[in-house]
Amino acid sequence: MTLSPATGPLLYEGKAKRVYATDQDDLVAVEYKDDATAFNALKKAQLLGKGALNCRISALLFEHLERLGVPTHYLGLQGDHWMMVRPVRVVPVEVVVRNVAAGSLCRQMPIPAGTPLDPPLLDLYYKDDALGDPLLSEARLERLQLLTPDQLGAIRELAFRVNDALRDLFARVELELVDFKIELGFTADGALVVADEISPDTCRLWNRAVSDAQERILDKDRFRQDLGGVVEAYGEVLKRVQGVCPEARVYG
Ligand code: UDP
Repeated sequence: MTLSPATGPLLYEGKAKRVYATDQDDLVAVEYKDDATAFNALKKAQLLGKGALNCRISALLFEHLERLGVPTHYLGLQGDHWMMVRPVRVVPVEVVVRNVAAGSLCRQMPIPAGTPLDPPLLDLYYKDDALGDPLLSEARLERLQLLTPDQLGAIRELAFRVNDALRDLFARVELELVDFKIELGFTADGALVVADEISPDTCRLWNRAVSDAQERILDKDRFRQDLGGVVEAYGEVLKRVQGVCPEARVYG
């Protein structure tokens, strides 16, 4: 059992993580939980080992982005399911980039699942569970005054840089990055950084070597669709990513 690096109070508890204060203002500790939820938490389960897998996968992906000059909140790992990060003011917008049609896009649009999207499609959602995270239009975004036009431009640019970086990395290990969601935040000095997590909970990943539409799934859709083998699939993603990334650093 890892000793908790949280030396301060619980600041926030989400569906898959807890965020704690530390004795430093510019440092928070994130605990990755084994809780799995889908459909706005209507479906729930405990998946032993999921938190540690997502923590490691996220660390490797954040470090990969950092090497390519994409700023993130990540500082380093601590034990098997804790990550030390910089505190950020989270932008209440979920940023989704889609390379292949799947999920809500296919439920809302007459686009068959599996259709390649070139150029990739960027969708923004208002982060509000009570409202069901609705799709945002630019006019609605402007109306809510959540972001300045410059900030929106910076978010778009960052999202596509993240997509290029992750799509290439996953392609090297025979995984197709179908789509993903990121969250962004502003640090105390006003820098826009990628925050939250990047893992099979937040990315759709298909095994390129497999053509069967269910068997190829190596992400949270295994849980959403009751396909079983969720933790095994996440383990496979970690194993592949570890094969092409340096070991994740330990904080401190
Ligand atoms: N996603 C996420 N959190 C959310 C909604 C979506 O991480 O609250 C991810 C999801 O795993 C997928 C991508 O964002 O990789 C696009 O999801 P989509 O809009 O298709 O919604 P879904 O089909 O998951 O309801």
